[in-house]
Amino acid sequence: MGIIVQKFGGTSVADPAKIHNVAKAVIKEKQNGNDVVVVVSAMGHTTDYLIKLAKEVTASPNSREMDMLLSTGEQVSIALLSMAIQSQGYKAISMNGQQVGIITESIHSKARIVDIKTEKLQKYIKEGNIIVVAGFQGVTPDGEITTLGRGGSDTSAVAIAAALNADRCDIYTDVEGVYATDPRIVPNIKRADTISYEEMLELARVGANVLHPRSVETAKQFNVPLRVRSSFNLDNLGTLIIGVNDMEIYKPVAGVAADTSQVRILISNLPDIPGTAAELFGALAKNNISVDMIIQSLAVQGKNSIAFTVNADDLDETLKILDAEKDIIKTADVSIDKDIAKISIVGAGMVDRPGIAADMFRSLANKNINIKMISTSEIKISCLVERENSKEAIKALCKEFELEADEIAAVKGDLPNV
Ligand code: ADP
Ligand code: ASP
Ligand code: MG
Repeated sequence: MGIIVQKFGGTSVADPAKIHNVAKAVIKEKQNGNDVVVVVSAMGHTTDYLIKLAKEVTASPNSREMDMLLSTGEQVSIALLSMAIQSQGYKAISMNGQQVGIITESIHSKARIVDIKTEKLQKYIKEGNIIVVAGFQGVTPDGEITTLGRGGSDTSAVAIAAALNADRCDIYTDVEGVYATDPRIVPNIKRADTISYEEMLELARVGANVLHPRSVETAKQFNVPLRVRSSFNLDNLGTLIIGVNDMEIYKPVAGVAADTSQVRILISNLPDIPGTAAELFGALAKNNISVDMIIQSLAVQGKNSIAFTVNADDLDETLKILDAEKDIIKTADVSIDKDIAKISIVGAGMVDRPGIAADMFRSLANKNINIKMISTSEIKISCLVERENSKEAIKALCKEFELEADEIAAVKGDLPNV
């Protein structure tokens, strides 16, 4: 008998019938003799709908009010799932982030969890309840509601599993595990039985949205056994995320991903003097804006250019900050490119294996795809390309690195990814 944390995403709880299915999967785990804590996302596309609603009221909604609004989505699904479990004869209780005591930083829309109180969870578990917790939300030490960023329910689940020292954290979704790329782009794609925390973390960071990056970070940090599996095929154990040392690495590339959520900002004719980059990027960091790729050109006649990418959601704020840095930018020109996609290959097996980058570039060149920026880390190579080339690039790279399978992957969600 142990504690199992299960997490069900939006597609899995999209309607009452699916909520009853989830209740069955939860009860099955309880019948196995385990204590169960379930974390759920908002139903279907609720979060997208709420964002759209806010944008119809005002073009730039206040971030505190946005968190107040978005946190309601998960509250609907916890209550309904709890009712469904009760109606099938089991004790259940729903709890929102505040009731559990999921304490986060005081940052709206992308807060990190800093602590999870376990007293109430333990008490309700002892009383024989299945606990249904609202994912994606938390509360600051002074009682303000926060959210963890899109896809953040995965992180809620892993953090709760870590806090309770759970035996397992199972992330149930609409595909049967982690594939070498999004099976909606390449349907005949290989599925991994295991993948290392390191590779999964990089893949999640570069756009494989099957797991929220911070969920993988937390699982790695606290050694939480983490699985991605299908809520529509409970017999398939999906993909287990494990330590890299337990893996036999025989392939250089484990996965390919596209990130279409970024925009590129080019600042040209910048004065080439010490401290310029420090001042600009320091100002962005102070405002919690993450910068991803950066390149700086060689200086010509005392001027150079810096290009960098940020999340499209941070564009308006970034431009405001750059505007406030007029002293530094002076006569520089700022231009924006929104039609970009960052294509990445990830694999622990590429360490010390020369030629992988060249293979990637050649494969893109053969499709006549131009590379605008390149960045690399030990187990990742990313290329910025035109957004319209994104799918073709992914397909070419899956072929190049032999990631295609004979079978078509099962994608059960009837809701397309947004
Ligand atoms: P949930 O609502 O369950 O959290 P998400 O839409 O966040 O579901 O994540 C599941 C989706 O992630 C899949 O439907 C799939 O399209 C997408 N995906 C992207 N990359 C991958 C990958 N490498 N392996 C599996 N799924 C992926
Ligand atoms: N409902 C939130 C979202 O759509 C959180 C999640 O699903 O993980 O991003
Ligand atoms: Mg998700």
